Amino acid sequence: MNPDILELFPEGTAVDADRGLTVGGVALAEVADRFSTPAYVVDEAGLRARIRRYQQALGAGWPDSRLVFASKSFPCVAAYRLMAQAGIGVDVAGLGELAAALRGGVEGRNLVLHGNAKTSAEIEMAVAAGVGLVVVDNFDDIDRLEHAVEQAAQHTAEHTAAGRQDVLVRVLPEVRADTYEAVATGQKGSKFGLPLDQVPRAIERIRAGAHLRMAGVHTHVGSQILDVEPFAAAVRALAGLGEFETYNLGGGLGARYTYTDHPPEPEEWIGAIIDTARRHLPHSARLMIEPGRSLVARSGVTLYRVVNVKRGDRVTVAVDGGMADNMEVALYGQRFEATLVDRVGGGERVDIVGRHCESGDRISSGVTLRAPRVGDVVAVPVTGAYCHTMANNYNGALKAPVVFCADGEAREVVRRETLGDFFARDTSEWIDGS
Ligand SMILES: *Cc1c(COP(=O)(O)O)cnc(C)c1O
Repeated sequence: MNPDILELFPEGTAVDADRGLTVGGVALAEVADRFSTPAYVVDEAGLRARIRRYQQALGAGWPDSRLVFASKSFPCVAAYRLMAQAGIGVDVAGLGELAAALRGGVEGRNLVLHGNAKTSAEIEMAVAAGVGLVVVDNFDDIDRLEHAVEQAAQHTAEHTAAGRQDVLVRVLPEVRADTYEAVATGQKGSKFGLPLDQVPRAIERIRAGAHLRMAGVHTHVGSQILDVEPFAAAVRALAGLGEFETYNLGGGLGARYTYTDHPPEPEEWIGAIIDTARRHLPHSARLMIEPGRSLVARSGVTLYRVVNVKRGDRVTVAVDGGMADNMEVALYGQRFEATLVDRVGGGERVDIVGRHCESGDRISSGVTLRAPRVGDVVAVPVTGAYCHTMANNYNGALKAPVVFCADGEAREVVRRETLGDFFARDTSEWIDGS
């Protein structure tokens, strides 16, 4: 048995001699039986504890600071509710995320709207919801927002009283982080934000308008970053732009997916940002960070059932999910470890592949499973971020449920998609026989 396997699973994971792997006191084999597979399991208490860790590290280092959850990494109403209960801010980058956040009970003032191509409809909805901050990405964004706030002011007396919409300017810091090409966002030529030399003009435009208030600057250098230097470099890049009330330094801390990954702990990441901020930013400023992946990845586990085992030069274990529930392998070549839930760790070297019609549809390559057979339940750890959110219907897959486990109880917070859901958007005139 690989002794490290539990280090990749949620904090609330244990191995029970009779029940196998448990999360939050619930046996994963029972979750698979009750809710079927594939299924996403979340260690609810572990997630809450992790949020508190970030809050404490941030609050201890910088008094006027704010933790914001980058919700695109795990947007379901239950997750928004949990974040609202924790009292942290929430990033949204689209109409659906904004609507789900409000539905989950996140207050408008705790929301931050992002996006490199926000539509007018999104901006109008955000303004109507009273979002705390809009992060403007480009000059058209500024014009569109100015117009939307003006329109809203004409319709509601309340907004006239509230005055202006607070905005941050997204800055492209020209910092290249060592991560997958697809998730690097801070380098020269990135589609996100304004180049440093255009920022002063954007600030001028915001200040000249009647409906916006220049609250500060924002930057985000990428995702799955495994060292702290790019974050420090981004802070230094912002410092050269002048003094502001708010600095939002983005997310991007990497998660530990495999035994060989050694990302900084959240405290190290936050500590490095704060050290650099102390040296370069006004001490009275408000500091925001917006982690997604590193906050939620480890709290999630995906369960699959083995459909067949092919034994040849290699052992290939095919399961009942794949790139419809986890796009990370196909998108960036992310590596995942795995284990059987009732025979934890160790065994023979196998490749775990999905059920979809692409050779790139793999889940874990070269991991060890103990004598895998048809019907076994496989658990893939570190799937709490960017899996549920990128779920799709490829090959007619019905999207998997999300099950929160805590105190020995399993709660299905998102149910599995049904064929009814699957057909709901096909207009009725095409239904056979009608
Ligand atoms: C995606 C994103 C984040 C979160 O990134 P993680 O790597 O998930 O921590 C934060 N801020 C912005 C603007 C983002 O686009």
